Amino acid sequence: MALIVKKFGGSSVATPDKMRAIVQRVLKGKQPEDKIVIVVSAMGDTTDELVALAKQITSKTYGREMDMLLTTGEQVSIALMAMAFQEAGQKAISFTGAQAGIKTSDAFNKGRILALKPGRIMKALDQGNIVIVAGFQGITGHGDITTLGRGGSDTTAVAIAGAIHADVCEIYTDVDGVYTSDPRVVPNAKKIDQITYGEMLEMAKLGAGVMQPRAVEMGSRFGVPIHVRSTFSEDEGTMIQEDCSMEVKQYLIRGVASDKNVAKITVLGIPNKPGFAYRVFAELAEKHVDVDMIVQSVRIANEGVTDITFTIARTDLEQAKAVLANLRKEMPVEDVLIDDKMAKVSVVGAGMAGHPGIAAGMFGVLGDNGINIEIISTSEISITCLISEDVIDKAVKAIHAHFFDED
Ligand code: ADP
Ligand code: ASP
Ligand code: MG
Repeated sequence: MALIVKKFGGSSVATPDKMRAIVQRVLKGKQPEDKIVIVVSAMGDTTDELVALAKQITSKTYGREMDMLLTTGEQVSIALMAMAFQEAGQKAISFTGAQAGIKTSDAFNKGRILALKPGRIMKALDQGNIVIVAGFQGITGHGDITTLGRGGSDTTAVAIAGAIHADVCEIYTDVDGVYTSDPRVVPNAKKIDQITYGEMLEMAKLGAGVMQPRAVEMGSRFGVPIHVRSTFSEDEGTMIQEDCSMEVKQYLIRGVASDKNVAKITVLGIPNKPGFAYRVFAELAEKHVDVDMIVQSVRIANEGVTDITFTIARTDLEQAKAVLANLRKEMPVEDVLIDDKMAKVSVVGAGMAGHPGIAAGMFGVLGDNGINIEIISTSEISITCLISEDVIDKAVKAIHAHFFDED
């Protein structure tokens, strides 16, 4: 008997015909005793359309109501999928996140799964159902509906797989695995057969949108093997797991990632005294604005003040502006500069530690292409450069060619 969680993304469930095709595929591969949980996203571009609809009403962020709105997309998908299975003669039942026992923190739009009580899922499986769960959503301790951040259905799927001790969590999507770079940007990117949680987490955090970072983190924490594969072909995809074969370990670089959801903020002339930087970042954290790269520089001509530059997700910019406007009422700041046309390009690979040539190679490629680097940051397994958004695809292509094209 196999216990499997299968997650289908928006493009995979975009139409009733596509839903029917999924039903056929699942039933074809299912042994009578297999237990299957299916997690689905909203159909096609529904979530984007709902976001656009809210923008027609307001430019402000009403967190609770936004989550109430966005979760309707997944609810449409689960009901239709359950009907499609029943039409094919298979018992099936749909559950919202709350019904599936998913409890989250009360950060609207960015809920974190705090607990998952799979009792109802297990009972429905034991009764012979295929269980269909709405991705991307949960409920707070106060009974409010939350979402898990864009791409959050991946996290729902891996969390359920962890909670029910599934053999594998299969992520079905519109590409046939994780590639060395986004195949839409780099057409000759190569499919990766196996990748470790650590490298995949880094790729995902740095913008490889094929998996939500929290899903990879959760997979690592609960030891859930994740198989990223295509909805539209039977080919094997990419296994994300703890360890890889010797052959795979030889790689210095596993991939090139990019992220356009970046804004740069510079706070000019804040007092160069203990506690001031803390206040800026504590207030941002309080409002759930994640800060990424940070550079602080002291002015040679005036050591009394300092300039702090940092990056955040562009989608958090309105929130960050409000925080900074409030702070300016209470602390002396010369100016705040905002550039929302930035992007990050990164190379990722556990093998790069101790190979200084990787950084030099990356900076050299950017220099040769006339691309200015604004900020550099590194981790043990990645190097990231902040550059202008209008040259990001050019940068990704050139860096990928440098590290992956055979001469
Ligand atoms: P889904 O709706 O199935 O969740 P997503 O759009 O969230 O699908 O993720 C799949 C997309 O991720 C692909 O279409 C591809 O453009 C993008 N992507 C970005 N980086 C990578 C990568 N390194 N490998 C594969 N796909 C990537
Ligand atoms: N529908 C949500 C989104 O578009 C969640 C997901 O697809 O994973 O972000
Ligand atoms: Mg996705």
